[in-house]
Amino acid sequence: SSYHKVLEENRMLYNQVQDLKGTIRVYCRVRPFLQGQTNGQSTVDYIGENGNIMILNPLKHGKDARKVFSFNKVFGPTVSQEQIYVDTQPLIRSVLDGFNVCIFAYGQTGSGKTYTMSGPDLTTEQTWGVNYRALRDLFQISKERADVVKYEVGVQMIEIYNEQLNGLNVPDASWVPVASTQDVLDLMRTGQKNRAVGATALNERSSRSHSILTIHVYGKELVSGSILKGCLHLVDLAGSERVDKSEAVGDRLKEAQHINKSLSALGDVISALAQKSAHIPYRNSKLTQVLQDSLGGQAKTLMFVHISPEVNSIGETVSTLKFAERVASIELGAARSNK
Ligand code: ADP
Repeated sequence: SSYHKVLEENRMLYNQVQDLKGTIRVYCRVRPFLQGQTNGQSTVDYIGENGNIMILNPLKHGKDARKVFSFNKVFGPTVSQEQIYVDTQPLIRSVLDGFNVCIFAYGQTGSGKTYTMSGPDLTTEQTWGVNYRALRDLFQISKERADVVKYEVGVQMIEIYNEQLNGLNVPDASWVPVASTQDVLDLMRTGQKNRAVGATALNERSSRSHSILTIHVYGKELVSGSILKGCLHLVDLAGSERVDKSEAVGDRLKEAQHINKSLSALGDVISALAQKSAHIPYRNSKLTQVLQDSLGGQAKTLMFVHISPEVNSIGETVSTLKFAERVASIELGAARSNK
């Protein structure tokens, strides 16, 4: 019967999910050179199959010029949106079984964070990012299970700018019930309109704010009556670039300080979780406060770390990869030795 099929599916999924639970996964994605770029020299020297990436620093010489960083996976510049999603899908599915999941996009401005999370063009499904693929899956699976579990889905869109939280879809940042991917697309358009800035300013501002799309799932099993609650946070972080202290003044300096503070607070929380510290410093930033319920415990975290291949980005590339290795370190070491 369809009930037993779903139970069996759930059991398999559960085993898959047990593998992922409590671990922090880090995937690195390298953006391709953009159209019209003439200087095609890449700082990415080599991408291994086992999650290694070798960076060539043209400013250094001899054996200091090459450095290897290790992650769960590394996706090169030709990897498609669909391929990126394959390894994310089990996490998304687990939300319907009552897990909390956080997916982050980290990297300097222009390295492809929004491309990974949203995609360049909503009108072509082929280039859809993780957000829309996740929603499509959630709605599809909940339909398939309709005889067994009755699901309700709600979304919330917020922005954190200068340590202040703003709701985008509705003034008070409350949940909006949704029944299809189209509902969410419509909400996002409203959200964009609600931002009191023009298109260029919007782009600039979005690189200096964290944007969080939260999908909240509430399910009731029809036979047993038991309730499950799951939650998916899709987080497009502010650009991680370090602002030159001598140049930044006024608003720019304030923004930069807030971004540095919240990104390092996030790094501190994730590495404290990885090391199973007794104290997890959630209170140190708005970002980690908002995500507290979905970081640690039974929750699962995935970070997409983005790098730009251009030579003039080498400084940011190295500091991005160092941050990501710190985030990944302990848990990754354990995962490796289990293989
Ligand atoms: P960020 O959000 O980190 O500031 P974007 O996602 O806006 O960066 O990407 C910057 C530019 O690079 C955009 O024009 C985007 O379409 C392009 N881009 C990023 N990643 C890819 C990719 N994997 N393939 C093709 N183009 C990409």
